[in-house]
Amino acid sequence: MNEPPQRPHRHQAPEEIRTLVIEDNSGDAALIRKLLSQCQHPRFEVEICNSFRAGLESLENRQFDVVLLDLSLPDSPTPLESLGGVQDMAPKTPIILLTGLDDPELATKIVRLGAQDYLVKGEVTASLLVRSIRYAIERKNTEDALRTSEERYALAVLGANDGLWDWDLQHNRIYFSPRWREIVGCPSDGFDATVESWFNRIHSDDLERFRWELDSHLRGETAHLESEYRIRFGENEHRWVSTRGLALRNAKGIPVRMAGSLSDITVRKRAEEDLARAALHDSLTGLPNRALFLDRLTVAIAHARRRDDYLFAVLFFDLDRFKNINDSLGHAVGDQLLVSIARRLEALLRPSDRVARLGGDEFAIFTDDLTEPSDANRVATRVLHDLAIPHDLDGHEVYTSASIGITLSNPDYLRPEDMLRDADIAMYRAKSTGRARYMAFDPEMHKRAIHQLEIENDLRRAVEKNELLLHYQPIVHLETGRIEGFEALVRWRHPEKGLLYPEDFIPVAEETGAILPIGRWVLDGACRQIAQWQKRYAAYGPICLSVNLSGPELIHHDLVSQVRQIIARSSLERGSLRLELTESMLLQNFELVFDRLEELKELAVKLHLDDFGTGYCSLSYLQRLPTDTLKIDRSFVTEIASESDAGHIIEAIVQLARRLGISVSAEGLETKEQVERVRGLACNYGQGYYFSEPLDPATAEQLLATGAPLLPN
Ligand code: C2E
Ligand code: MG
Ligand code: MG
Repeated sequence: MNEPPQRPHRHQAPEEIRTLVIEDNSGDAALIRKLLSQCQHPRFEVEICNSFRAGLESLENRQFDVVLLDLSLPDSPTPLESLGGVQDMAPKTPIILLTGLDDPELATKIVRLGAQDYLVKGEVTASLLVRSIRYAIERKNTEDALRTSEERYALAVLGANDGLWDWDLQHNRIYFSPRWREIVGCPSDGFDATVESWFNRIHSDDLERFRWELDSHLRGETAHLESEYRIRFGENEHRWVSTRGLALRNAKGIPVRMAGSLSDITVRKRAEEDLARAALHDSLTGLPNRALFLDRLTVAIAHARRRDDYLFAVLFFDLDRFKNINDSLGHAVGDQLLVSIARRLEALLRPSDRVARLGGDEFAIFTDDLTEPSDANRVATRVLHDLAIPHDLDGHEVYTSASIGITLSNPDYLRPEDMLRDADIAMYRAKSTGRARYMAFDPEMHKRAIHQLEIENDLRRAVEKNELLLHYQPIVHLETGRIEGFEALVRWRHPEKGLLYPEDFIPVAEETGAILPIGRWVLDGACRQIAQWQKRYAAYGPICLSVNLSGPELIHHDLVSQVRQIIARSSLERGSLRLELTESMLLQNFELVFDRLEELKELAVKLHLDDFGTGYCSLSYLQRLPTDTLKIDRSFVTEIASESDAGHIIEAIVQLARRLGISVSAEGLETKEQVERVRGLACNYGQGYYFSEPLDPATAEQLLATGAPLLPN
């Protein structure tokens, strides 16, 4: 391959050194030529000009590797001008001055101005001359490289917009660059260039750390200094800066000088702070989030362990029926509601209290320095009161309430999560005892919660493991005493806990969805049982079956076809099944439920409204619902004998029901007196311990077999 010859590297001495000698004395010039011609490596190509002007012309026309310049040329006004002229014409070419014996001082001065070397004419030898030329070329190259590098560095510093500092440790003098002063907001001369004036500007929270980092480097423990801190900007403001630096050490390793940079990192720091804020705050409401709240609790728990008179509380709550608001008014309004609540909570709390949004519609409040536990209740009362005021959102007047659980600090709490968990448990109790109230945690609740959890786990297998059973409670016609039918009531024979009643597990089953297989099992079993009795005791006349239904079952899409199948399979007499529903179930999802009920009616299933009077069923709903019977809740029956209004209420219900063509049944009849009263009020049916407790199937069957009426004589 034919490669072009490589050009010599610019730092290498050229093979042939092109030398210009500007010298008016022809003898001196000839001597130089002669001396140079003796040298073979490198070789010198010499051109001689005998005047300043001729020299400049030559320089203009061609390039030289070195110029030997006589200082006293007749056509140049001063030696300085000679030098300047040559430098201007060939700035990259090294210059060696030729001078007479008499003026070494001048020569030194001129060398300082940029010539590379000087030679005293008459003392020049061949080797001296060659060495001087080679040295001049070398030095010029190095100087150029250094200048480029310096320029590059200066440019980089300028580009990075960094300030520079340079500290003479031996004399404790420091230099700050103009940019350095600008960064700290002191561009004027008023700023004292001392190390103290620097350190004095450092934020008091950061100073100790900075000094420590600086000292570590000076002691040689770190490779370089790198520190971020806040520094006063102007008089009152602070900026975030980063300082880097490196110490220079003497032969003994003692630092004698230290220099470095200062950059303004305020923008990055603010961004980092924003990010950190975002990580610890809820973006919708701007409130602290769970992580930050737990952090606050951790601090408080530690504090409480050191000071036993320090009492604080955690209030945990979510909104009652927030989902309804979201579903009916849309998420945008739901969001507005959360923001509105956040602002109210902030306004109502003391500055030392903390409110956080833990997620969804869950909020938590931290309040401390309580003098007694009831202080926490007062906070809860205020929160409940404030939340009860309607919110005006997008023209909607939105009402909410909350159920609040409270935990008080005590030395047993080691982890913030435990306090929050207990507040959550207490909140659940508050909800289940009727919402819009607060409840303080007590350890009983924890036991109960654990019990609930165990139930929840075991319940999944209860149907498969055949642990459920049915009891039947007779429903009696109050005129005749005849058993009209039975209400099927489920029980669970738990392998460890014994026989459990519905209130122990039905709410859990509803929450976890386990109610669906359980409900199917109950309906199936009860239909078979009653169908059997209907056949076996046909002479007894019609026997009906009442089965309780839960909310999730009612809204489950498969309900109607399941009921149809089960009735068909069991060959239960048509028209003998009643499903018991509660008012609150019907009020949720009214339109959906309404269609569902119509479909059930087509299967000749009757609908009984259970626990009537405890919910808030409006009369207009009642009129639209295809209800057959109202079951008056036990609480009215219990109070009927006392001088309360219960009697009037039952009377009103019966009259209302009669007008709507609906029959009335009374639950929880325990005494003869109660039976007499409800009969007197023209109730159609009754049910209760007075007639019979819920019975196991065999015992219930005996009642049918005897055929005797259950009415008192
Ligand atoms: P409920 O439908 O109102 O059932 C009546 C409850 O009152 C039964 O409680 C019954 O044992 C009790 N009871 C009957 N007579 C008297 C009396 O004279 N005095 C008193 N103090 N109580 C009486 P039980 O069996 O504990 O059932 C409680 C609730 O559990 C039922 O209330 C019903 O809502 C629900 N439940 C029972 N079985 C099922 C079921 O299979 N599915 C569903 N979804 N819920 C069920
Ligand atoms: Mg019932
Ligand atoms: Mg009931």
